[in-house]
Amino acid sequence: MAKINKGFLNLKENYLFIEIGRKIREYVEANPDKPIIRMGIGDVTQPLAPCVVEAMQKAAAEMGVKETFKGYEDSGRGYDFLRNAVAGYYKNFGVGVEADEIFISDGAKSDSGNITDIFGEDNVVMVSDPAYPVYVDSNIMNNKQVIYADATEETGFAPAVVKDIKADLIYLCSPNNPTGATFTKEQLTEWVNYAITNKAIIIYDAAYEAFISDDSPRSIFNIDGARKCAIEICSLSKTAGFTGTRCGYTVVPKELEFYDDNGQSYSVLKIWARRQGSKFNGVPYVIQRGAEAVFSPEGIRQTREAIDYYMENARIMSETFSKLGINYTGGKNSPYIWFKCNMPSWEFFDKLLNEKQVVGTPGVGFGKNGDGWFRLTAFNTRENTIEAMKRVKELLQ
Ligand SMILES: *Cc1c(COP(=O)(O)O)cnc(C)c1O
Repeated sequence: MAKINKGFLNLKENYLFIEIGRKIREYVEANPDKPIIRMGIGDVTQPLAPCVVEAMQKAAAEMGVKETFKGYEDSGRGYDFLRNAVAGYYKNFGVGVEADEIFISDGAKSDSGNITDIFGEDNVVMVSDPAYPVYVDSNIMNNKQVIYADATEETGFAPAVVKDIKADLIYLCSPNNPTGATFTKEQLTEWVNYAITNKAIIIYDAAYEAFISDDSPRSIFNIDGARKCAIEICSLSKTAGFTGTRCGYTVVPKELEFYDDNGQSYSVLKIWARRQGSKFNGVPYVIQRGAEAVFSPEGIRQTREAIDYYMENARIMSETFSKLGINYTGGKNSPYIWFKCNMPSWEFFDKLLNEKQVVGTPGVGFGKNGDGWFRLTAFNTRENTIEAMKRVKELLQ
């Protein structure tokens, strides 16, 4: 008799975005004449940068020529040209990582979900509440105990260290999805010190690092000691519009160790490489060439234009909420606005959709602390953002 992994039975019933998708479909079917504006899912709308497209076209042409055709990549960890480009990019914000500590991935979602494979079921996993749903779901699927650190108005919307709680694995995300909060160097240093003291490992999701415009850390490796306690997961999805193209990278420092029951230590890098070697065969050559172009001076300049475009949307949104006198956060180093909707989140979702045809994301979908809060993203077009803010104003003033 085939047996189910019981972890799957412990998952919450519906994945947030599937539920939202269902509600939108039903609304559109019933109201085909009322166009809706999607300010919900964190998907980008600006096209790939010209230099990225050019690099991918050139690489596609190489694949059609016998001499330059590429099959399986040897390591599946990424071509040297891209790993060197990522290492070079890190230097721009003062972080030294070596190319052989970098694993090219098909995105941050898969790696932040897959990484839990290499950690035993007896790890206690700490996730902030609210949080990006992948951290919780992937650990529940893996039968691990998940505990929560509050990321509420009281903590500045970023989780604060709780000294008497013992966690072995800690997921942090900055700039944060959904709250938009960004760790200061001091806050992040506290987490690094906590992890070192407890021999815990931080899994740091830096998917929005390119949106940081002040002096907040761009990488956890900007913090002293982080190489001994952290894995960083990053993505080109939001930085360079790769949500449909799929490419990211994960950094595992050589010093990072974990332990068996006898206290024997093991290299996390070696075990992750072993896991990837068994279950992953790499990212397409054409995509890796496109990703390489993102890190060229031209690529950084061109992708910056899209980020600036989104951040201008975020500024327009922030201005709207400020003028309405509504309690909100985000919109500064991140493309998210997280605001207090003063009623259960799903009720507000329905109200905004039914009365104003604007779709957002109910805060409660990211954790119980998110109830009464709501997330809007700055990833839409300028026109739609302005129109959506007009409608939000009508609803809330
Ligand atoms: C969008 C997002 C990612 C990126 O996921 P990909 O799989 O790389 O597209 C990762 N983490 C967070 C918090 C995100 O919002």
